[in-house]
Amino acid sequence: MTTRGRRRRGGGHTVPGENGSSIVAAEVDVVVVGAGFSGLYLLHRLRLLGFSTKVVDAADDVGGTWYWNRYPGARCDIPTTDYSYSFDPEFELEWTWSEKYATQPEILSYLRHVADRYDLRRDIEFSTRIESAAWDESASRWRLRTDRGEQVSCRFYVMASGCLSLPKAPDIEGADQFRGAVYFTSKWPHENVDFTGKRVAVIGTGSSGIQSIPLIAAQGAQLIVFQRTANFSIPARNGPPSAERLAALTTDRAAYREAAKWSRGGVPGEITEVSGATATEEIRRERFEAAWEAGELLEILGVFNDLMLNPVANEVVAEMIRERIRSVVVDPDTAETLCPRDHPFGTKRPCLDTNYFKTYNLPHVRIVDLRKHPIAAITESGLDTNDESFEFDAIVYATGFDAMTGPVVAVDITGRDGVTLREKWMDGPSTYLGLTTAGFPNFFTITGPGSPSVLSNMAVSIEQHVDWIVDCLDRLRARGFETIEPTSVAEAGWNQHVEDCAAITLYPTADSWYMGANVPGKPRVFLPYVAGVDAYRAACDEVAAKDYLGYRFAGPGGLHCNDGVIRRLQPDVAMVLEAMAAMELPPIESMSVAEARTFMQAVEAERPPGPEVGEIIDGVMSGAAQGLDYRLYRPASPGPHPIVAYFHGGGWVLGSLDSDDPFCRDLCARSDTVIVSVNYRHAPEARFPAAADDAFAAVRWIAAHAIELGGIAGQLAVAGWSSGANVAAVACQLARDAGGPDILGQVLLTPVTDAVMSRPSYEDNADGYVMTAALMQWFWDHYADLADRSEPKASPLRGELSNLPPALIVTAEFDPLRDEGVAYAEALASAGVPVRHLLARGHIHTSLTMVDVVLSGADLRAQMGETVQSFFPATVLA
Ligand SMILES: Cc1cc2nc3c(=O)[nH]c(=O)nc-3n(C[C@H](O)[C@H](O)[C@H](O)COP(=O)(O)OP(=O)(O)OC[C@H]3O[C@@H](n4cnc5c(N)ncnc54)[C@H](O)[C@@H]3O)c2cc1C
Repeated sequence: MTTRGRRRRGGGHTVPGENGSSIVAAEVDVVVVGAGFSGLYLLHRLRLLGFSTKVVDAADDVGGTWYWNRYPGARCDIPTTDYSYSFDPEFELEWTWSEKYATQPEILSYLRHVADRYDLRRDIEFSTRIESAAWDESASRWRLRTDRGEQVSCRFYVMASGCLSLPKAPDIEGADQFRGAVYFTSKWPHENVDFTGKRVAVIGTGSSGIQSIPLIAAQGAQLIVFQRTANFSIPARNGPPSAERLAALTTDRAAYREAAKWSRGGVPGEITEVSGATATEEIRRERFEAAWEAGELLEILGVFNDLMLNPVANEVVAEMIRERIRSVVVDPDTAETLCPRDHPFGTKRPCLDTNYFKTYNLPHVRIVDLRKHPIAAITESGLDTNDESFEFDAIVYATGFDAMTGPVVAVDITGRDGVTLREKWMDGPSTYLGLTTAGFPNFFTITGPGSPSVLSNMAVSIEQHVDWIVDCLDRLRARGFETIEPTSVAEAGWNQHVEDCAAITLYPTADSWYMGANVPGKPRVFLPYVAGVDAYRAACDEVAAKDYLGYRFAGPGGLHCNDGVIRRLQPDVAMVLEAMAAMELPPIESMSVAEARTFMQAVEAERPPGPEVGEIIDGVMSGAAQGLDYRLYRPASPGPHPIVAYFHGGGWVLGSLDSDDPFCRDLCARSDTVIVSVNYRHAPEARFPAAADDAFAAVRWIAAHAIELGGIAGQLAVAGWSSGANVAAVACQLARDAGGPDILGQVLLTPVTDAVMSRPSYEDNADGYVMTAALMQWFWDHYADLADRSEPKASPLRGELSNLPPALIVTAEFDPLRDEGVAYAEALASAGVPVRHLLARGHIHTSLTMVDVVLSGADLRAQMGETVQSFFPATVLA
């Protein structure tokens, strides 16, 4: 590597050629594949730091996307004020965009200007394709081959090869038979294409189809559009750049660009608190109209905070867009064909258009729905569907790309130990931060899978990736290291996080190119990182700040590895914790009991209510010493049903029938059982063993009154959360010792099972995850004297555990109580009790009860519901 600040032109070394000859391989610090937005900026930055760099592109000029996609109507769909470089404020002042959404020629001339202004072309080799790259372990270098037979050796290899640069080949029988003109939007000819007087077919109605169709229709004598999937599109309302955006940009350019970097999608904008699921019709319409008028994708995608999370909210917007389509397209059948119905809005990239839907009102334009009339074959003169033959002069394929992974694995890349990237990614890509992948040292991807990429304004994402990589290489060099590679632990953790983020959204429900679903045989994996440009940048910054957490460095500087996982909490749990931290609430244990109860009630009032159930009845039952309030939840299905006696959480001090209400509704709906939630006596007014005694009394009362409650005699289980799980477990032990009532199962969610507070989870998770070690101490102190705490009635782990009902024990990874829950599961299993243990990965003590807030808990709650059902004889449920 060259030394800092001193620039060196690439050197060369001799390698064996194919017939025993010798070839001089160019030797540089960095090879960059691609001379689009990414490659150009990367070259500029690497040069400034003195890295010898060679950029290679298959095109014969710079521009990437904007070099290739020259079809009529090609434009960006992020406002050009934002879809621009921001790295050089001086340069920014030199360039003025003429339109809100610039055309392809204008963006291409912008990128050409960048190449000239920064004198980049001299290090770019055009009309050259990289075909293979192999890691040479002995030299710690990459050996690359081009389609011209050249060899290049480099220390670092960067694929700035684009996410949408490998067109998807048409998978239609007879595609090569057609004798007329054939065009691909993604490889449009450089010379003018004139459709005047021509009969034209356009196959595909994604972004490129939607942009080009109105212009092709304006020229052609006849246009037939073949649509597989109807897509959502909103009017671009193109014109001069938005005065509002320009004003914000020119008033304080630095602040505007900084806001973009820390925004969700890479464009500054409001983040709404309005839920589409619960807003009034008036607010829904008002917000939709404003977004519709703005003509910006990120505006409409941000119209509600739950648009991409909640099907109800999503359908509100989807239907409003369909209304608009119906109001524009005159023929009702055509309008229905154009109305998207097979995916939630936004789960496939929505489009921005100019007169797209209106085009179908022209007499010479027609749409064919390929779902109803699939293409049988392309013929010499046109195309046959299953029931009609068409003749054309030209066919335009707007059939999209093998997105994100396609261009990367198109190169034959071989890493350590001869493993190829194609093999490694066979079941879907695996990356650390979407930047690097284990087993492939010194290899980087720009806007790769696992980064915000195509879900963001890519100009912002590209600059962020380039900056991160260049800073990393600079630091690596300064510390005398030659190689960098992510660890498999860090990579697995990131992949999991990317998947967790997608799993709580509606995105994976669509057969989209984000999922690889448009390419036959491609694994179905949600490719981009959905949590946002801001969350992503924070993760990358944190990795660097933690001395490159999860990376292994090696070289003359020795070995360095700070292994670990950057994001371990479920994304929605992390959001809850961040929101709470922002409120700077006092710790509960610093409050009086009365204050703590008032505080909890205030928090409860703000929650979503939980699902509807058939019926909810409040009543009073007899407890150990006094009457106890209870709340009964009855499923909507016809009864009678088995019954679950439920005990709320709250450390024996807090909690009430209201505190666990959403969770009880959820358990009732999912398990199809009657839930009887019991308000046992609380400490400090009624200390140990009042709560435990009440729990046992409640179980007896419920068993005795099962039929009156709409239950089935003998079909009883218990459930509880935290301290409620503690008394539920105790009730099982007491019932066994008393010879009844029969309890068929116990569900213990993050239970308190032992007063000992020295297990590792108490140290690992002492603070920061709502339930703290200090709070648990406060609960114990209010509940029981020290001498009583080791009693099995307080610490059921200390009791006799044989002959207890089958148990489901759910523990949360970031919970001080985790290990005592695990210990209880293990001890029950050792005592011969059938036990199922679920570890809620990335969850905290409280998160699984946060119904409709922490969506990532839904799957575990579903498993709780199923387990409850499994406690009861199947015949009863039938
Ligand atoms: C029609 C269209 C409109 C778009 N509009 C927007 C928008 O409005 N906003 C937005 O954020 N994004 C948009 N995008 C995404 C766009 O791809 C990115 O914004 C951006 O241009 C990507 O730049 P890049 O340099 O990373 O990749 P690209 O521009 O795709 O450049 C990659 C280059 O790598 C070259 N290459 C690939 N493999 C090899 C190889 N093996 N050997 C040699 N060369 C190779 C290709 O020839 C290509 O020139 C759009 C994409 C398309 C297709």
